[in-house]
Amino acid sequence: MILPGHLAAALLASRAFRVDRHASLLASMFPDVIDKPVRWLFRLTPNDRLPAHTGLVWAVTTGLVCLWKGSTFGKGWFVGYGSHLCCDQVNAYLNPGRIYFWWPFKRYRLHVGPTGVHSSLQDFSRASLLLELALSLLGIWVWFRKERDYVKLEGEE
Ligand SMILES: [Zn+2]
Repeated sequence: MILPGHLAAALLASRAFRVDRHASLLASMFPDVIDKPVRWLFRLTPNDRLPAHTGLVWAVTTGLVCLWKGSTFGKGWFVGYGSHLCCDQVNAYLNPGRIYFWWPFKRYRLHVGPTGVHSSLQDFSRASLLLELALSLLGIWVWFRKERDYVKLEGEE
């Protein structure tokens, strides 16, 4: 999944679980903000899903965010981060690579993955692009529907 799908998934998850939307949206970008540069710029990992696409970093960052910003923001972070990992795992059924959730506690045969935006996008199958589009459109629809309802409520007061 790429940015629009991750943001849409985080928006939908934050509504479903009634958590802080801003925290969810921020957390939904975090794994890629860490792992893409680690792989694409510095070549420190064999693919662009380590180390932040793991349960360990999800748990540690959620704990730190709770300490720093409080539990309300932390719950939003937890949900948004989880939505990112879920989306990438679903995508892993359609494209090369996977989530190494239990890394570094479990040994995996690591996929040697993309080294930049171009090679990353080449890994996307047509099915995963359609999924991305559908999820993004659903997120946009929910976003504008919510804003419209909010404006309507304000007008009624
Ligand atoms: Zn990702």
